[in-house]
Amino acid sequence: VMYYTRKDQELWTNVMARALYGTGVRKGDIMMNIYGYYLFTGGLGFHYGGARVGATVIPWGIGRTEALIEALRDYKATVITGTPSYDYYIGELIKKMGIDPEKELSLRISVPGAETWTEEMRRRIEEWLGLKAHGGGARMMYGLTEMYGPGMATECEYECGMHVWMDYYYPEIVDPDTGEPLGPDEQGELVLTNLVAEAMPLIRYRTRDITRLIYDPCECGRKAFPRMPGVLGRVDDAFSYKGTKIYPSAIAERLMKFDEVQEFQIVFDKTVMPYRLLVRVEVPAEKRSPQLKEAILNEIDKAVFVRPELEFVDVGSLPRWEGKAKRVVKLE
Ligand SMILES: [Zn+2]
Repeated sequence: VMYYTRKDQELWTNVMARALYGTGVRKGDIMMNIYGYYLFTGGLGFHYGGARVGATVIPWGIGRTEALIEALRDYKATVITGTPSYDYYIGELIKKMGIDPEKELSLRISVPGAETWTEEMRRRIEEWLGLKAHGGGARMMYGLTEMYGPGMATECEYECGMHVWMDYYYPEIVDPDTGEPLGPDEQGELVLTNLVAEAMPLIRYRTRDITRLIYDPCECGRKAFPRMPGVLGRVDDAFSYKGTKIYPSAIAERLMKFDEVQEFQIVFDKTVMPYRLLVRVEVPAEKRSPQLKEAILNEIDKAVFVRPELEFVDVGSLPRWEGKAKRVVKLE
């Protein structure tokens, strides 16, 4: 449970408005909000923040994806929210429905959040939703319920990491095992203090998210606000396999480099001895080959120093996600 005073709501709306403005949302935009409103802070945060910028917010929530795509077209929506996985799925469906996103849709900005993604996923979302063609892009937002909700950090138009709003939040990076503070650019667990909250002023809250802080100035000029490159993994997601600590996000990043790969699933099975690491990738039948398999395994090996089992599966056979994706399956 999360509590807010009236002042908390006001401050959160302001920081959300600043975050959305940073991504490129402007007065007059039409924002399709596809975060849930049901017992979830995300939907409300985007709604109030978008309205404060001066956008018209459509409270869609989650689901009915084909109808959503028709609504995007009919309402000429220019901004879309959602998790990267859902934006990705919407992009796939737009293609399947035979809609030309550059001509028939008006989307300029997507603000994915709540989940890790890769640069390759960004590129595909930007292309499949027609964002670049309309002069915008996909710009990541970060936040967590314990810190008001979304809006704690956002990317600007340069798309090179999320500016942390230092007047609201104080970020630290620590060693996840010892809790010792780490230096600039060092990768570790993000620890956050909300500097303004009244109802629930959490101090040095351990997020379990792995990232780092970048202090080089960004071209946009927001010098007071260092950036974090996104969540590089969850402390809890990591597992040990053949003596190596593996972050599934590192595997995901390599998989998405292959245009042939549509979706994937990483299965870590501890019910058998020795433990089994299986990666399932959706690849169209005509594109499958031993060479592709070998190339994918080599990429994974470079990232995490192990070679899992790799299985090609049919396109559309793995789950799709409207909220946070669960692409890692642990059997224990
Ligand atoms: Zn910037």
